[in-house]
Amino acid sequence: MTNKEFADILLPNVKHTWEEYEKMYPQRNLKEGAIVTRYAPSPTGLPHMGNLFQCFIAKSFARQTDGLFFIRIEDTDTERTVENGTSKILNVLKDFNITFDEGMINDTEEKGSYGPYMQSKRKDIYWAYAKKLIEEGNAYPSFATKEELEEIRKEQEKSKQRLGYYGRWAKDRFISKEDAVNRIKNGEKFVLRLKSPGDFYKTVVLNDLIKGKIELPENDIDEVIIKKDGLPTYHFAHAIDDHLMHTTHVIRGDEWVSSTNKHIQFFSMLGFKPPKYAHIAPLMKVDEETGNKRKISKRKDPEFGLTYYHENGIPIEAVMIYLATITNSNFEAWFDCNKDASIEDFKFEFKKIGSSGGTSYDLPKLFNISKNYLSKLTKDEIYNRIVDYSKEFDKEFYDLLVKYEDYSKEVFNIEREQKKPRKDYATYADAKKQIWYMYDELFDKYKETYEFQNINNKEEVKTILNTYINKYFDEKDDKDTWFNKIKELSSELGYASEVKEYKNNPDLYKGHVGDISMVLRVALTTKSMTPDLYEIMKLLGKDRMNERFSKIY
Ligand code: GLU
Repeated sequence: MTNKEFADILLPNVKHTWEEYEKMYPQRNLKEGAIVTRYAPSPTGLPHMGNLFQCFIAKSFARQTDGLFFIRIEDTDTERTVENGTSKILNVLKDFNITFDEGMINDTEEKGSYGPYMQSKRKDIYWAYAKKLIEEGNAYPSFATKEELEEIRKEQEKSKQRLGYYGRWAKDRFISKEDAVNRIKNGEKFVLRLKSPGDFYKTVVLNDLIKGKIELPENDIDEVIIKKDGLPTYHFAHAIDDHLMHTTHVIRGDEWVSSTNKHIQFFSMLGFKPPKYAHIAPLMKVDEETGNKRKISKRKDPEFGLTYYHENGIPIEAVMIYLATITNSNFEAWFDCNKDASIEDFKFEFKKIGSSGGTSYDLPKLFNISKNYLSKLTKDEIYNRIVDYSKEFDKEFYDLLVKYEDYSKEVFNIEREQKKPRKDYATYADAKKQIWYMYDELFDKYKETYEFQNINNKEEVKTILNTYINKYFDEKDDKDTWFNKIKELSSELGYASEVKEYKNNPDLYKGHVGDISMVLRVALTTKSMTPDLYEIMKLLGKDRMNERFSKIY
């Protein structure tokens, strides 16, 4: 029996030969240096921050080289596949502006001419290449049952040998073709395995674009290539798919580094040129309890999940700027100098991506970026975003924002739309936490105890408030006039109108203008720190101010 006849028995009814597939997926027509890369998730759950980081990096390199970023769904582990897994993944990523040039567009449809982009639909392709390996004598059927494999494992453990199906342990290597065919005719189930030519005591060098030179032992395990269900294993499919889809760069998490010896071997045995590899170190944070750096994790860190950002009102743009910041350490300085530039204008480099120690993922830093980002939005933009957020997460605030639209825009405009805007909202949720006192409906509910700081005599506070509202406050005043009046009020009541003056002659005064302003501020907001008091008063207006003053005692 020839190898070809054998292959036809093992894998019957294959529609095309591997040579035909080679012709069906010609070189891509892209310019020199264009990076073709992919995201290859299993449809088993939702993407997390690590996945988003990976996609961000991959997409950035594809874009900046006029290359291409596609999505391939690796669903060969049918037991773990979840319902609508693909569209769930696509939707989460789309919220972060991660879209693909080719690949699946929902659970069943796809775009691009290098598909199918879902591995379960590529069975014939894998079989064609598995046949190539069988014909060349590089793959064989293995009938070992679970129990037999378990037996091998136990023996290896007992004799302190390396685990796995290799060398003399790979017994089915030695089954003759005729025997194999008989067993198949008797209905025995089999997998196909690679006949690995590797020598564990030799090394294979991986020139990783991020991690540099990595030496791995050659793979000598007879890896399964086609499982009992006829579907390929991940390792085998990776080589074939990335070859036919003309992936130039495999950018993925570094948990795959140790398998790369297998992948390089598959590429070589199939006669393919291997892609370049860039393995990304995990995101790390300092553990609050131990003070040690550790990987961020689904179980311990809510920020690892991508719904966290939406639920907490963290703008996507800030997340993306943050990801750019942790991708290349020189991004931040560049972005500071190029205020109007966008992330797309920056040229990322593989060798500047953090390798060994992992990449620090630091929420406070993200919040800082977010404050900066939100401070630059116009009053209309921030209003719309806070409305959208509140609509979903804070009905009480949403109703007020809609009811008092113009007023709310002015509230958000306090110290905004100016050269150095105030940077106090890190999230859309922060808005209400900070300016609830601008709404009478919220004031009564959230007001704090009045702490007037230096002036705490009830009668004195009353005098200050009454004199101010009756004699000095005028809604029409400009800011200078407004402030001069507070100074006049201070002098009238025995307070220094300049802080310096008070410091030089503290015995001459009851206090200074700052103390007076504090009383006014606290009386209106119950807070000792607020944005510009002039703006606050202007927006509240005399009647509402009067009302708040009169309710204090
Ligand atoms: N399907 C693999 C995963 O789930 C893809 C690994 C790769 O990118 O090569 O991570």
